[in-house]
Amino acid sequence: TKWVYRFGNGTAEGKREMRNLLGGKGANLAEMSNIGLPVPPGFTISTEVCTHYYDNGKTYPAELEDQVAQGLKAVEEIVGTKFGDAANPLLVSVRSGARVSMPGMMDTVLNLGLNDETVEGLARESGDRRFALDSYRRFIQMYGNVVLGVEHFLFEEKLEDVKDETGAVLDTELSADHLADLIERYKAVVQEELGTAFPQDPQEQLWGAIGAVFSSWQTHRAITYRKLHDIPEAWGTAVNVQAMVFGNMGQDCATGVAFTRDPSTGENTFYGEYLVNAQGEDVVAGIRTPQHLTIAGKQAQGSDLPAMEEVMPEVFGQLCDVRTLLENHYRDMQDIEFTVQKDKLYMLQTRSGKRTSQAAIRIACEMVDEGLISQQEAVMRVEPQSLDQILHPRLDPKAARDVISKGLPASPGAASGVVVFSADEAEKRAQAGDKVMLVRIETSPEDIHGMHAAEGILTTRGGMTSHAAVVARGMGRACVAGAGEIRIDYKAGTFTVRGETVSEGDWITIDGSTGEVMKGRVPTVQPELSGDFARIMEWADAERRMAVRANAETPEDVATARKFGAEGIGLCRTEHMFFDGDRILAVREMILASDEDGRRAALAKILPMQRGDFEEIFDIMKGLPVTIRLLDPPLHEFLPRETDEFEEIAKDLGVDPAKIMARAAQLHESNPMLGHRGCRLLNSYPEICEMQARAIFEAAVAMEKKSGEAVLCEVMIPLVSVKKELDLLRAVIIDTAKAVAEETGTEPKYTIGTMIELPRAALRAGEIAESAEFFSFGTNDLTQTTFGLSRDDSANFLTDYERRGILEHDPFQTLDQDGVGELISIAAERGRKTRPGIKLGICGEHGGDPNSISFCESQNLDYVSCSPFRVPIARLAAAQAAI
Ligand code: ADP
Ligand code: MG
Ligand code: MG
Repeated sequence: TKWVYRFGNGTAEGKREMRNLLGGKGANLAEMSNIGLPVPPGFTISTEVCTHYYDNGKTYPAELEDQVAQGLKAVEEIVGTKFGDAANPLLVSVRSGARVSMPGMMDTVLNLGLNDETVEGLARESGDRRFALDSYRRFIQMYGNVVLGVEHFLFEEKLEDVKDETGAVLDTELSADHLADLIERYKAVVQEELGTAFPQDPQEQLWGAIGAVFSSWQTHRAITYRKLHDIPEAWGTAVNVQAMVFGNMGQDCATGVAFTRDPSTGENTFYGEYLVNAQGEDVVAGIRTPQHLTIAGKQAQGSDLPAMEEVMPEVFGQLCDVRTLLENHYRDMQDIEFTVQKDKLYMLQTRSGKRTSQAAIRIACEMVDEGLISQQEAVMRVEPQSLDQILHPRLDPKAARDVISKGLPASPGAASGVVVFSADEAEKRAQAGDKVMLVRIETSPEDIHGMHAAEGILTTRGGMTSHAAVVARGMGRACVAGAGEIRIDYKAGTFTVRGETVSEGDWITIDGSTGEVMKGRVPTVQPELSGDFARIMEWADAERRMAVRANAETPEDVATARKFGAEGIGLCRTEHMFFDGDRILAVREMILASDEDGRRAALAKILPMQRGDFEEIFDIMKGLPVTIRLLDPPLHEFLPRETDEFEEIAKDLGVDPAKIMARAAQLHESNPMLGHRGCRLLNSYPEICEMQARAIFEAAVAMEKKSGEAVLCEVMIPLVSVKKELDLLRAVIIDTAKAVAEETGTEPKYTIGTMIELPRAALRAGEIAESAEFFSFGTNDLTQTTFGLSRDDSANFLTDYERRGILEHDPFQTLDQDGVGELISIAAERGRKTRPGIKLGICGEHGGDPNSISFCESQNLDYVSCSPFRVPIARLAAAQAAI
């Protein structure tokens, strides 16, 4: 079996399409080699080795050692040095690389192959002893931390000691002798921490690093990240071993990162940062303030440091050519990493760049205009989930702002929250229902859970490409990075800036689009949607087969749904209309009534209010279909829980409190979700069904008279499991429609259908369809009842289930396609057999989840229905599912 794939010298055994086997980094290193870009030679150990490693008790395939040795030999031949050779050593980097980039994975180890002997060879060969020693101390630090697990700060302390003792401020000011001294201290740290010496054998170093990459696939960090991003565990990671090039050999050397377009706005400008005389992670680690690539970038951010365009114009020119070449080749915005060694440019990475959703939309539209991609591709380029970012509020421009500091606008959107200083605290408080703002000097992959829990992230160090910035943009969290004047005191739980002190628990607001940090809570307003957004949505609508409706019942929500393009209401929950103000009184009166007459008297009070609600909704929906679900929850939900509340109600209703308490006790159910609710309740009290039907039809007729246009109401019966339940209510509804027609002289236009939310209903869909003109899959209840799993009681163990891989996802968020999905398939098939063309839709939470939407497309459903804010997400997801 072939486990190792080489690249370099203008060719490669791999290519871009082999991402599954070589990981993203390896596949693109191969591709860049193939298209003639200057890539230091190396080889990729495939993801299959990772799979083999975990399937076989953490052991490697037998042929691997030999294939790695051959790969190394090929690199030696190209570079003209030898791995482990004391006179002229080959140094390599060991880099992890999963199919998609994953911050949880092992950090790259640079300068591998250095030891007490080879460092002297490197010094002689390069003619630069300081550079050789600098590389060696970096290697010990990186390898010590990443592979051997010695804590980073133990090395940092030694570095600070040496700087203090010598009066150096920057790392670059340390002389060769200082570095030699530092190396001895580093080695002592390793000896002390591990009880063994730092490994001197380059082969041992290499295999140590390879093993560490594979092991990192199962670290807590990596697992969390995979969970959040839906990355299957079975994918595994590849390992890249690559000849080193050096950005730390002097003033004609540099290292940098860039985006081929602005990842924040999407503007077509070259956007990046670099550092002279630096290596690898120096740019993102925020050790020195990075400099801009372009003069324009430098000016835009008001930086005094010279741009690469000024300092190394020739290499910058080459880099610009690479930018164009890569964009034309990949036809997408790229995120690149490069190093300059002695005025020669080397490409170390390219991948399609993470971007905000604004940027994604703008780039997709502009690339269509530039002729790089088709409209259909443009639709595929915007991640539906990411639209959340632009659909959510920004700061009210008219509101007062108490700006206390400013950092980099690292990820757009506005957010307010109470200050917390650790990821764990962020998670804890968020779980308790607080809105939190995570404030850190900088963030690391260990903080991901806290960043996820936070509304926004504020850091005091690092640039636009720092960890915090990149991850926040990916997650759609607002982020202000590198607010350098803020001083954080983790111990005291405070930060200070411009003489102000802000404590843990205080509210602050950040604006990730301007970089402003404000005291308190600044109100927000809804965003204006750009012309590019409208174009993408229009292209998406052209591709889409399923309709998109919204779950909404308040006039505000219905209006929002329309604004976002909902083509109907898929679920109007009438019980939500029962809680407001006076209504609850009338509802309670109805519940407490001891006979039908009493109930009818109370229902007569509710009727006009409910009719008014429907009129408002029909008015906003202007003839689009509206699915109205009749009363669904158990009655006791409308009764109070506290004793003093009982007394208050008794007074309001002028009855004896004891009577109310007795009735409440009577209504009590030990398992109300499976109790007297939905069509069961309506069948016990058909007068409720009658009142609701009357309110619907009278409103529809009134609207038709007013606008001259018929209103299409879809009356939906919840919780049916037996056809007869539906039949009886159907008769009540039809009779009511007839009565309204007689009274008003106008026939209401309506259909009657049912929710499919119980397994029995799904199985008996064939006969239920005889009486139902449409089905709406209520996947929240269907998930509960298929799994026998209470949504309200499962949160604590579901997390554990996901962690242990018992369930891949929370089935209440992402539809369980295997089980619940099979019931949907069965119901759809049987329903269609009885009634060809029966209208099918979904109205559970899943209707707004892109994954589940793609399942709905596969089942040929007619529409999905979701919460109003998710309508654009669903439109885009439905389009992508259809492409
Ligand atoms: P990440 O996935 O975290 O970006 P990389 O493997 O890309 O990690 O490595 C990080 C940085 O290390 C690169 O951007 C580059 O600057 C540096 N680096 C990696 N390999 C080499 C190499 N062979 N020569 C010089 N620098 C390297
Ligand atoms: Mg990289
Ligand atoms: Mg339900």
